[in-house]
Amino acid sequence: IDAGHAAATAAPAGAAPDWDRVRADFPILSRQVHGKPLVYLDSANSGQKPAAVIDAMDAFYRQHYANVSRAVHTLGTEATEAYEGARATLARFLNVRADELVLCSGTTFALNLVAYSWALPRLQAGDTILVSRMEHHANIVPWQLVAQRTGARVRVAEITPEGTFDPDALRRSMTPDVKLLAITHVSNVLGTVNPVRAICREARSRGIVTVVDGSQAVPHRPVDIAAIGCDFYAFTGHKMCGPTGTGALWARREHLAEMPPFLGGGEMIREVSFEGTVFNDGPQKFEAGTPNIAGFVGLGAAVDYLQGLGMAHVEAREAGLLAHMTQALEAIDGVRILGSAPEKAAVVSFLVEGAHAHDLATLLDLEGVAVRSGQHCAHPLLQFYGVAATCRASAAFYNTHDEIDAFAAALRKVRRLLA
Ligand code: PLP
Repeated sequence: IDAGHAAATAAPAGAAPDWDRVRADFPILSRQVHGKPLVYLDSANSGQKPAAVIDAMDAFYRQHYANVSRAVHTLGTEATEAYEGARATLARFLNVRADELVLCSGTTFALNLVAYSWALPRLQAGDTILVSRMEHHANIVPWQLVAQRTGARVRVAEITPEGTFDPDALRRSMTPDVKLLAITHVSNVLGTVNPVRAICREARSRGIVTVVDGSQAVPHRPVDIAAIGCDFYAFTGHKMCGPTGTGALWARREHLAEMPPFLGGGEMIREVSFEGTVFNDGPQKFEAGTPNIAGFVGLGAAVDYLQGLGMAHVEAREAGLLAHMTQALEAIDGVRILGSAPEKAAVVSFLVEGAHAHDLATLLDLEGVAVRSGQHCAHPLLQFYGVAATCRASAAFYNTHDEIDAFAAALRKVRRLLA
């Protein structure tokens, strides 16, 4: 379980992009908020979109739009090719087969699909679903719903105060009653990068099915799902420069073949009669109804854009921003950062002595700085740290070091106001 980080720390090949020019690709980043230049540090919540993505969707609606997988006319064919092209692009990006990638509205849908189609028909009283302490509610609540309906129970895989897993404790928690392990690749609150490859190897060697939430990983580092070796991998498009309402579930083919459909309707069938219905094969079996076609055209463009930058470069750029942000925050009196994992994404949750997180975020907004405050859809994690709310600053490659300085200056000012 300890040796999971090798792939992520490989040096980027080729020259790094010119990050100032990259930033100019994002129209929204040049706007002002309350008369101040926008400093957007809420990318863990949702990422901003480059013009390439906005333009791709615009061109699709203007020139190629029609429904998919139905009509034989030219626009229908073009739309189907664009939609399926996006599936193929995503599959190549993550090193999986396109026919194992279910396109859906995002991580929440993807995890619920596993819960309802895989877990619900299989689990029973006496079975355990092991869920890590640092999960987003999207990777907790579906398992609680399954547990309520099957008699299985949800058990917590605990973390250390640093916000990591103790490998021995995690191994010990993989008892024979555990049938499924739900774990995030990267924590949306702490930024911790979990060694999911080693964890999944350990779990699968004990016959435990593994579900990895990749929401915060895919936008920020090279991800090779095949190398991770999990059973299911979920991610969401809007955090990776793509539009809202897009995402996917990757699942091993044998699971997809055995899982019953989650929703019924058009697109997911091959033949329907009142005597019985034959479902489509592969991912289409889980894609009932007209999908978010233009959204996936945008997501395909987002992947092309990220690949153009190079995910290893993105990772290195964000590591530099994280180091700067951590240092800047640590230099401010009364600031406490949650978690200190050795490998982190550019997410920093912090508290300021004597100030409420929402007040901080509101006053920071007046300085043009966008950070999130609250519980970040991770109540159990905040309970673990004994805090009611935090502020969370999360950077992406399009942020600059000057913005980190502007954020730190704004936080000093706000702190003085609240003292
Ligand atoms: N999991 C993690 C780790 C997240 O950060 C998020 C987004 O906030 C989700 C799941 C849910 O993603 P979505 O709301 O796009 O379904």
